[in-house]
Amino acid sequence: MEHLNPPLEPPDFAPGDPVAVVTAEGLDRLLDYRAPEGGARLGALVEVPLGPRRVLGMVWGPGTGDCAPDKLRDIGRVLDCAPMRPAMRAFLARAADYTLTPLTVMLRLATRAPGLGAPPAARPLLRLSGAAPDRLTPARARVLAAFAEFGNLGFAPQELARLAGVSTAVVKGLEAQGVLLREVAPRDPPYPALDQAAAPRPLSPAQGEAAAALRAAVGAGGYSTTLLKGVTGSGKTEVYLEAVAEALARGRQALVLLPEIALSVEFLDRVEARFGARPAEWHSGVTQAARRRAWRAVAAGEARLVVGARSALFLPFRDLGLIVVDEEHDGSYKQEDGALYNARDMAVLRASIEGAAVVLASATPSLETWANAEAGKYARLDLPERFGVAELPAMAAVDLRLDPPEQGRWIAPTLERAVGERLAAGEQALLFLNRRGYAPLTICRACGHQVGCDQCDARMVEHRFRHRLVCHQCGATKPIPSACPSCKAEGRMTALGPGVERLAEEAAALWPGARIAILSSDLAEGPRALKARIDEIAGGGADLVIGTQIVSKGHNFPHLTLVGVIDADLGLQGGDLRAAEKTFQLIRQVAGRAGRAERPGAALIQTHQPEHPAIRAILTGDDEGFWRAEAAARARAGVPPYGRLAGIVVTGADEARTWEVARALARAAGPLHAAGAELWGPAPAPIARIRGRHRVRLLARAPKGAPLQAALRAWAASVPVPGNVRVSIDIDPQSFF
Ligand code: ADP
Ligand code: ZN
Repeated sequence: MEHLNPPLEPPDFAPGDPVAVVTAEGLDRLLDYRAPEGGARLGALVEVPLGPRRVLGMVWGPGTGDCAPDKLRDIGRVLDCAPMRPAMRAFLARAADYTLTPLTVMLRLATRAPGLGAPPAARPLLRLSGAAPDRLTPARARVLAAFAEFGNLGFAPQELARLAGVSTAVVKGLEAQGVLLREVAPRDPPYPALDQAAAPRPLSPAQGEAAAALRAAVGAGGYSTTLLKGVTGSGKTEVYLEAVAEALARGRQALVLLPEIALSVEFLDRVEARFGARPAEWHSGVTQAARRRAWRAVAAGEARLVVGARSALFLPFRDLGLIVVDEEHDGSYKQEDGALYNARDMAVLRASIEGAAVVLASATPSLETWANAEAGKYARLDLPERFGVAELPAMAAVDLRLDPPEQGRWIAPTLERAVGERLAAGEQALLFLNRRGYAPLTICRACGHQVGCDQCDARMVEHRFRHRLVCHQCGATKPIPSACPSCKAEGRMTALGPGVERLAEEAAALWPGARIAILSSDLAEGPRALKARIDEIAGGGADLVIGTQIVSKGHNFPHLTLVGVIDADLGLQGGDLRAAEKTFQLIRQVAGRAGRAERPGAALIQTHQPEHPAIRAILTGDDEGFWRAEAAARARAGVPPYGRLAGIVVTGADEARTWEVARALARAAGPLHAAGAELWGPAPAPIARIRGRHRVRLLARAPKGAPLQAALRAWAASVPVPGNVRVSIDIDPQSFF
């Protein structure tokens, strides 16, 4: 039996003392238990009985006294891992308070590694023995491929079957043959040490200055936040890797958050090149064995650098000195289900508690971050030029009012000529359209009926490659009907509007010789497959790329010299308060893919409204002007970042009940008004039904500095909600659908 954390100091609670425990399941309240033999430490992870089950919990403090001493149940077991530190507990509590999330849910986020509670024998792992199977069936080959793809740490048996897409019988068969070995209670291999001095890169003068400032911020050892604003290709990654090096040199840990898993594959290579070894990884594509290893090594302080998705923010770092949020403006940092939190904001919160430095990196920061830098709350560093000889692309608009494409087409003559020239010169072009599938709308020309989803208040989107209509809300699919489901007319169903698949069809007709690749999240089979496709394209494996917003993220395409934006107006429609900001960020990011190597790039933006402030700012490159105007408009409207919002969504299977609750909430707005907040609604949500549940919205707005959370808590608690209706409150909402 190994003891990783022998209790050197006396325990905080003596055996038999009542202690309050937060459980990772069950109700949102502290429960009292009796400290076990050997006592218990604050923050210790424990296993406690809850009804008939045993659940994971954390020792939170002295008993609350709400359970008679003779009724107290015993803590079952103290887990063999480091107790959560005071800073971690404070972070969980304050994040719970800020986002109105139960502490129970926060603890769950912080313990999302398997086998923390299970005794070692309960988590066998399968590994390759090195023996070859007697026959290599396709299913068996997929099992072997899973090892190649996810590394050799081993898999839990169920997990291996799932990731390989085979039945458990296939896995059992391979085990019986001795191809797979079952290891009980495997030890976690240690992470290789990162050498901060391994291979520093010579930096440009601008990079060197920024890196020195970040090193100083990390070296100061306290909390700070710095906006690292640098145009795409300016070398921000190299700069913040120097901040990582400083954290490592000081013996502290560093966390780099990335908006997309596919990017982490490239990032891992860069870390290895810089520090001589790979860091710990934490995201949904990581196997259970690797999760457990990472969690424990982070808690023990052995994993010094973690690269991950937003949830990595809830890892139990022992001494966190730096958090980098790359592409900090990216919408994927907001978790939209379960605990509704924005990882960028929570990173700042966590760093302020831990005494860590934060680097928010972006070419197009969020208005929130820009405003914080303006107000002097964040420091700001600028990298205005691309690294090396690369130059920013030349931007021009294609005015669709003067220069429209033919009926039923989406590529205007000007863009068509430009693409043709690049292809003839052997260069690569990219067409960007933020719409998956073939066509957003399938309509009957006889009666006008539009095919909708049965479970959602949403139209179905044609995906021609899959020969199905797909609901982008719930994922339901239907065959493409030949007769109208409403008027039964045959052969009158028509696709309306473009998606990337349809655009690819148009491009294939225009440039029959070109190799065309579509990049769309629904066509990739996972992060590694997506990365492989991107690498192939980057290596010159396609002449013309047609992509959705996936291409806006930081992937490098060195041969790409022309970006065509098919519909710049798409994101400007609708009432989202961030419509202009998001359009500006997205199109600037997409355009930034062009001309990242020696050959200069260009971007052509198709629009019906070239005079729109967001489009004008994209064309002129006047970022500061855009942010100032946008900031002034938001300040006038009293919306974020100059006012506070909370989105309230009431959902239920029963429409009348759902509305009753929403109306009761509206009538009970007293506590909100008392805090200086206004409440609007209820109103049907823009998507008024998803997966059969009706959705009604309210919106609360308050001046900055108003005690909005406390008011919302009191308000929500004052209205009884039946079990089949749910009220979810989203602080600082990003989406309003
Ligand atoms: P950003 O994150 O700002 O878009 P990157 O850090 O990805 O920029 O850098 C853009 C390109 O320039 C990459 O190919 C990177 O390898 C290269 N690069 C940046 N800085 C350096 C440097 N100091 N030395 C060599 N190459 C660099
Ligand atoms: Zn649906």
